[in-house]
Amino acid sequence: MVNKVNKAILVWLEVSRGKLTGPSRNLARLAGDLARQANHKLLGALMVGHKTLPTLNAFGGLNLSKVFIFKGRPRATIGEKAAALTKAAKLACPEIILVAADQRGREMAPMVAAKLGTGLTADCTGLRLEKGLLVQTRPAFGGDLMAEIVTPEARPQMATVRVSSQPPQEAINGPVMANSPDQILFPTMEMAAAPRVYGDTRVLKRSPLSLDDDLEKAEVVVACGLGVGGPQGLARAQSLADKLGASLGGTRAVVDQGWLPAHRQIGLSGREINPNLLIALGLSGSVQFMAGAAGAKDIIAVNSDPMAPILALARVGLIIDLEELWPELEEALDLLV
Ligand SMILES: Cc1cc2nc3c(=O)[nH]c(=O)nc-3n(C[C@H](O)[C@H](O)[C@H](O)COP(=O)(O)OP(=O)(O)OC[C@H]3O[C@@H](n4cnc5c(N)ncnc54)[C@H](O)[C@@H]3O)c2cc1C
Repeated sequence: MVNKVNKAILVWLEVSRGKLTGPSRNLARLAGDLARQANHKLLGALMVGHKTLPTLNAFGGLNLSKVFIFKGRPRATIGEKAAALTKAAKLACPEIILVAADQRGREMAPMVAAKLGTGLTADCTGLRLEKGLLVQTRPAFGGDLMAEIVTPEARPQMATVRVSSQPPQEAINGPVMANSPDQILFPTMEMAAAPRVYGDTRVLKRSPLSLDDDLEKAEVVVACGLGVGGPQGLARAQSLADKLGASLGGTRAVVDQGWLPAHRQIGLSGREINPNLLIALGLSGSVQFMAGAAGAKDIIAVNSDPMAPILALARVGLIIDLEELWPELEEALDLLV
């Protein structure tokens, strides 16, 4: 545990091509709001490859008062990043540390919490301050209830936070007013021993997973549940998606059946989608599925059970057996496309 605690919130930031990533910018904004309420300083820590020092504009509009910049290798490991954040935490001794609950954040935050001897609340969907304590809201028992967790004694209070992967409007609109946080630079050499210290997995071979879809950015997503009936139903849904220029995803139940690869799973333990239109085929609309699909603007749902929760969420609900609908749907699409 860090002994002396300063009135500060430290956020871990990821940089891509000299710019903060969407999740990092969203996380820093959320942390900035908390910092303002608590009269805390907002601090950032990040790691960059040799040539990609972030421009001053990268921190524009975020009210960061200091950033710890660690020069790392172009493909730094999670362990190296965890070492960097731990070092920043030991220097800054903040009240609170926040990390985005994306794949990397989920892996590195526990390493940092263990090194600092503090606790960690993972996958928070809400944060607020009450009497100086960070109240961390997160789904529990598979999402059936929301738990509020506080860390009364250990410091720092540490959480990973679910933030949207979409960059906020200001980042889309282009340059924003740059404020100039103090920048403290750490050379590469200091990080050299990190992987061993953090017991990283040894990388024997790299075979990048080629994501054959664009689920997060897709404007239309066709999502399948167990009600599609099997691989044949999935093939029909894929053909529907192709005709509509949509991406195909599914529920965990479908992935568990092996009808879709794991990276196509939408939901709490899968990916988060934000389409204008979600076409939900034979899926119930469980809380866990909806945790990843809540960003859908409109939903068309097909389900044979009038009581299926997805129908209550849909703008258009078709209560019909998919087997009956397919021939008509395919005929209609053939005429249109
Ligand atoms: C910790 C945890 C994390 C989880 N994470 C996720 C996650 O990330 N994503 C996820 O999806 N789930 C997740 N789950 C699982 C989740 O609770 C549900 O079990 C799952 O979403 C159900 O998938 P489904 O809708 O395909 O199946 P079901 O709930 O079985 O629904 C099938 C639906 O198809 C309809 N149907 C059946 N036959 C037909 C037909 N012929 N025509 C039309 N409709 C038909 C049925 O009426 C039913 O509504 C998680 C669970 C836990 C505990």
